[in-house]
Amino acid sequence: MQLAQDARERALTNPESFWAEQADQIVWHKKPTEILKENSDGTHQWYADGELNSCYLSLDRHIEEGKGDRLALIYDSPVTDTKKTYTYTELRDAVALFAGALKAQGVGKGDGVIIYMPMVPEAGIAMLACARLGAVHSVVFGGFAPHELAVRIDDSRSKVVLTASCGIEFTKVIEYKPLVDAAIEEATHKPEKVILLQRPQAQASMQEGRDLDWHEVQQGVEPAACVPLAATDPLYIMYTSGTTGKPKGVLRENGGHAVALNYALRNVYNMQDGDVWWGISDIGWVVGHSFIIYGPLMGGCTTVFYEGKPVRTPDAGAFWRVIQEYQVNGIFCAPTAFRAIRKEDPEGELFRQYDVSSLKHIFVAGEKLDSPTYHWLHELSNKPVFDHWWQTETGWPVTAPLTGLGETAIQVGSTNKSVPGYDVQVLRPDGSQAEADEMGSIAIKLPLPPGVAQTLWGDHERYLKSYLSTFPGYYHTGDGGYIDAEGFVYIMGRTDDVINVSGHRLSTGEMEEVVATHSAVAECAVIGVSDELKGQLPVGLILLKDGADISHEALEKELVALVREKIGALACFQRALVVKRLPKTRSGKILRAILRKIAEGEEYATPSTIDDVSILPEISDALTEAGITKKG
Ligand code: AMP
Repeated sequence: MQLAQDARERALTNPESFWAEQADQIVWHKKPTEILKENSDGTHQWYADGELNSCYLSLDRHIEEGKGDRLALIYDSPVTDTKKTYTYTELRDAVALFAGALKAQGVGKGDGVIIYMPMVPEAGIAMLACARLGAVHSVVFGGFAPHELAVRIDDSRSKVVLTASCGIEFTKVIEYKPLVDAAIEEATHKPEKVILLQRPQAQASMQEGRDLDWHEVQQGVEPAACVPLAATDPLYIMYTSGTTGKPKGVLRENGGHAVALNYALRNVYNMQDGDVWWGISDIGWVVGHSFIIYGPLMGGCTTVFYEGKPVRTPDAGAFWRVIQEYQVNGIFCAPTAFRAIRKEDPEGELFRQYDVSSLKHIFVAGEKLDSPTYHWLHELSNKPVFDHWWQTETGWPVTAPLTGLGETAIQVGSTNKSVPGYDVQVLRPDGSQAEADEMGSIAIKLPLPPGVAQTLWGDHERYLKSYLSTFPGYYHTGDGGYIDAEGFVYIMGRTDDVINVSGHRLSTGEMEEVVATHSAVAECAVIGVSDELKGQLPVGLILLKDGADISHEALEKELVALVREKIGALACFQRALVVKRLPKTRSGKILRAILRKIAEGEEYATPSTIDDVSILPEISDALTEAGITKKG
């Protein structure tokens, strides 16, 4: 494991030469001479004078190297009973043509494009077409409600919305067009055009003058060429939850991203040119960007693009079927999917119907990997199971084993050691470094390696405040945990009001804002409590307005519907409990951390700042009675 350790050391002692070497692994239109530059506010620029194109690196490059006939993308959709493959040449042709269509609609470098689409290959084609032109895509997960889409349309000020007539959840057809129409209606910024893919499962109605058909827009247009872009030009915006209602528009630059993904694909995931890789996620999340589309394609792999679920499409053997069918060499998935499979196939009867010998290993991330799930998966599959940790902001792994450099040791419960380029440290509240095994805030010493977001779209001040101000000289991850004496990192969870439901990052603050709009609600707190299947679930604690005339059951129902309508079903907001009082500090702040501990049935120290300590047993009784705090 000397190679891995050497790489870690080299990247930290001389980041410029380390990342100059890595930059040589990709193809540049203009090779950078400036590798790392520090800005006056503490942020950094990587490869500032380099020029490249992320779509060229994903597609054209391989064709020029004679690999045009290799499979680039395999679409497998159990929900529509469809399978389709694209070679690199076929995918490049589809992307170039769609880019030509976007160009004909006036989309060019720097223009914003919202992609609100299900897992159909056209969604990936759309992302790559934007990258080809230098347009900035912003993919919004199909599970988000119109309001969330409207917020993203307004913030990104996108020129065009790309969508499809429907998505499919198990067997349920969810029409997207009414959601898009409602979002545009709500948004203050009005996109000029909506380009819609009609799927056979639903026919969307079109608005004259604004809406265009996906296939018609491509008729008679010239395929577009790759536009050379500055390394620091934006590739995409990916919105993620912060601690307030307004999502953060994480901005990804072209240059550092390409170098980092290439590095991670080879060194972390050990995927070689020609391997088959399956990022089991959705293009609506960062994993979908880095490891369904850009990473595997830049690395010359075949990427599996799956429109289905771990279970019930048609059964809990679905993952193993796909691995066998396409001879998949590596997968990456959130633990929640394996918890769902385990629940339905605990003894692995379905697993044993398939041959998964092509698989080198299983990577998981996105939320805590609980040890029962780890042991079950490891014993069942007889494959190494690697937990690793990263965030939307970083865009690629922060801690992970370097399997490409032969590193395979793990510690159950740990997300492994820092990846070269990341100086991960645990800090105490005063900013001093914690000892080995001492819990604290996980922070990354600056400079951040290439690929990590250096700003938020249109709000650089918020970037500085959210990430760089808590511990000067460090990036604040928002996660708490510790590092052991050997350098293994243990992530214990968020230190802020962000929760993780089925691997989806959600803001409790945002849910509180929605709940508070109900006419009967005087005040509320939304907290995350552990859930066996989904990791965490949100629970609302509600103070009623005086004289509110509504039963608690009816209120809960209405609040559940409200959060579903405003944020989406993915929030899994199912419980809202009326309480008499909420614990507060003397200055009036709700003590959410205490509420979380009570709900989890954990020991807690009564904070000295509490206004009225008698509230705590009252809350505890209410949570136990409602079955939220588990007894015993
Ligand atoms: P996202 O930006 O949606 O990818 O969410 C990132 C957050 O998910 C991190 O800040 C962590 O809180 C959590 N997370 C990601 N990977 C892991 C992991 N392997 N173990 C524990 N938590 C994780």
